[in-house]
Amino acid sequence: MMKQLIITTIITGLSASASFAQQKPNMDSLVKESKKTEVWEPVPAIVTPGKLASDAPSDAIILFNGKNTNAFQKEGGGPIGWKMDAQGILNVVKGSGNIETKEKFGSCQLHIEWRTPATIAGAGQSRGNSGIFLMGKYELQVLDSYNNPSYSNGQAGSIYKQFIPLVNASKKPGEWQSYDIVFNAPQFFSDGKLQQPATITVFHNGVLVQNNITIQGSTEWIGAASYKKHADKESLVIQDHGMDGGNPVSFRNIWIRPL
Ligand code: MG
Repeated sequence: MMKQLIITTIITGLSASASFAQQKPNMDSLVKESKKTEVWEPVPAIVTPGKLASDAPSDAIILFNGKNTNAFQKEGGGPIGWKMDAQGILNVVKGSGNIETKEKFGSCQLHIEWRTPATIAGAGQSRGNSGIFLMGKYELQVLDSYNNPSYSNGQAGSIYKQFIPLVNASKKPGEWQSYDIVFNAPQFFSDGKLQQPATITVFHNGVLVQNNITIQGSTEWIGAASYKKHADKESLVIQDHGMDGGNPVSFRNIWIRPL
């Protein structure tokens, strides 16, 4: 009886290990399986990055690099009233109006550097106020928000009157700051109805402040935002918040990559 049990156990064990050997995955078949989820086309274009992440990569459109202001015009047309100084920095001239890119853009990656005045003048929204208007309509606020209380949905890094930045990553007045933006343009049906709202992700001085938020509509100072159909591509606008003092904001190193 005992002998039979032992034999049976051995046979069962043998057949179990035999079937295990059969099921043991073979490396060639694993490799074959793994290839089913490999995607080889398209091959991403080769882009040479800048030395620093803030430098324009090889496929960027340079909007301003301190050499000239040719990429811009006054909003609506005509020469810009802003002045480029000897250091190649573009400075807002109060009351001269917004500037816009001559070229129009939709979805994009945008890098822009800005500096609010070292000498503090004004307070709240009147201290280093400017703005980056994607497609001329959706404002990412520029403001000196270093120890400068104002409404949170209007401080630096906010999508003005819509989204408070996740954190306040502001540098001191007079120091250069950066925005790195990923913007997806809204889409409209031909009858003008909104098909897909715009989304935006923003890094302020390398810190995430807007995480793929859905923009509510074009920026409004008063009242609720809403969408109105516009072209697939529009000018990028930079604000002269000229209605009060304290806002001679400066800009440098502006580049864009249409998406
Ligand atoms: Mg503004």
